[in-house]
Amino acid sequence: MSRQIPVQKNDYVRVTFEDLTHDGAGVAKVDGYPLFVKRALPGETGLIKVIHTKKNFGFGRLTEIIKESKERTEPPCSIFNQCGGCQLQHLSYNGQLAYKQKQVQETMVRIGGLGNLTVHPTLGMEEPWRYRNKSQVPVSEQNGKIAAGFYAERSHTIVDMEECLIQHEDADRAVRFVKQLAAEYGIRGYDDKTHKGQLRHVVIRHAQTTDQLMIVLITKDKTLPNKKHIIRRMKEEFPNLVSLVHNVNPKRTNVIFGDQTEIMWGEGVIYDEIDNIRFAISPRSFYQINPLQTRVLYEKALEFARLTGKENVIDAYCGIGTISLFLARRAKHVYGVEVVPEAVTDAKENAKLNHIENAEFYVGEAENIMPWWRAQGMNADVIVVDPPRKGCDEKLLQSIAEMTPERIVYVSCNPATLARDLKYLEEKGYEAKEVQPVDMFPHTTHVECVTWLEKKEVVEL
Ligand code: SAH
Repeated sequence: MSRQIPVQKNDYVRVTFEDLTHDGAGVAKVDGYPLFVKRALPGETGLIKVIHTKKNFGFGRLTEIIKESKERTEPPCSIFNQCGGCQLQHLSYNGQLAYKQKQVQETMVRIGGLGNLTVHPTLGMEEPWRYRNKSQVPVSEQNGKIAAGFYAERSHTIVDMEECLIQHEDADRAVRFVKQLAAEYGIRGYDDKTHKGQLRHVVIRHAQTTDQLMIVLITKDKTLPNKKHIIRRMKEEFPNLVSLVHNVNPKRTNVIFGDQTEIMWGEGVIYDEIDNIRFAISPRSFYQINPLQTRVLYEKALEFARLTGKENVIDAYCGIGTISLFLARRAKHVYGVEVVPEAVTDAKENAKLNHIENAEFYVGEAENIMPWWRAQGMNADVIVVDPPRKGCDEKLLQSIAEMTPERIVYVSCNPATLARDLKYLEEKGYEAKEVQPVDMFPHTTHVECVTWLEKKEVVEL
């Protein structure tokens, strides 16, 4: 039976918001019909204009706030309403932390059926600004002038920016300076519609503990006019510059890096430290983007792993070996597995750099290597996984269960796939004990979680 939609496009309606979706939109209901409205908060009453209706839900735009939530706060960023980078700057930071905990809790119940699982309050930052150590800023041209900034939400239009309050100050300065140099030296911004122009992206990486800076210029072809001048000016402008890199990406693609990389000046890597372990970071390798919270996250993972020094540990999806090396100091042996060969090379180098000898690293897909290890008779006392957003492959979960480790520590950047995988592991004899959300990405809707699971005791009757 089809239900009548109670509102029509262009209607103005007064609504009260009840909830926030996982992408940060306010939810209001008109006769049970949900309307999603960006920048609206639960508890608020407002006037909205209906902009789109579908069979089971619709979208509106907030035109007036009639009753304001006490959690509403003035977004400090001047382009918050245009830029798609942050979604929650209008919500107080404590409100954001509570929202993330609730999101995780609800997802555990809805997808995992895990109603009794403890989800702790989100661990937040004392100063939740300027936290990003990596920025990948697209460059283009607008009205004949070079523009650089992030995309508007669900679009490919760049919102030109002067500063971005969640990235390191050096990243802002680098973007402004590159724009200035491009204007001076006649370097054109790249247009992804016509495939014309030259400069596509500026990527900036900053190492928090050493203050080392890496700047990568990504262009469509090899020619970069006035290269010598650019190097000199960059060095003058940034005394902490350690690595200036040129990458060429000739393809029509939204993938940022191309295959050709040349060091224009300096080193090929910068060094950062987490709890006295040193890591070499190259332009393309994965490294957690919020250094202060990374330490919080890894310490939680270590706590949940409850190592005594006797354990064999597997770190699946190990990247450049960060978690592996963090755990190796407290374990008998750590085996890391990772699909990107360069990352494994980095992981091995990082082990050497820190004189850690009880960690070894293998290239391959975790879901194929783990069953193979299992077939060789390898077992582990503790298994750590830290997969990308799509979560763990079922083959991998199966071999984890077959290895019967005492404990599993699951680091996840996506509560939905986490809940799915926890449900699977529960069916295979593990019990999810605690979930600890950690705020790695303040002002965005993203949330990171560490969870531990314990092997269920088999009761013999
Ligand atoms: N634990 C690391 C990296 C986590 S990011 C850290 O905290 O820094 C997830 C990693 O999984 C990436 O390095 C990615 O390259 C890797 N990866 C993705 N799919 C994989 C697969 N099927 N098998 C093994 N590694 C994979």
